[in-house]
Amino acid sequence: MRVWAARPLVCRDAVSIMSDFVDGRLPRREANRLERHLADCPHCHEHLEQLRLTIRTLGHAEPEALTETALDDLIEVYQRWRAEESAGM
Ligand SMILES: [Zn+2]
Repeated sequence: MRVWAARPLVCRDAVSIMSDFVDGRLPRREANRLERHLADCPHCHEHLEQLRLTIRTLGHAEPEALTETALDDLIEVYQRWRAEESAGM
């Protein structure tokens, strides 16, 4: 066990590196820290699932622009598309 893992991630940190994690651009040790946090945090786990859905739908994510607000906007867009689909558009 290495010393770098001693500082646990908080949710805010976890969310901020999540888009890189989904894109596979997160350094291995950061990914490990995030995975440890996700294992303990159902909220961030849920958030990750939403992010994966959003990225799969849009094809990509821009990490710099992906603030929490921008992420909420993406999820809103995604949900609107789903609503339009079920409305038969
Ligand atoms: Zn969390």
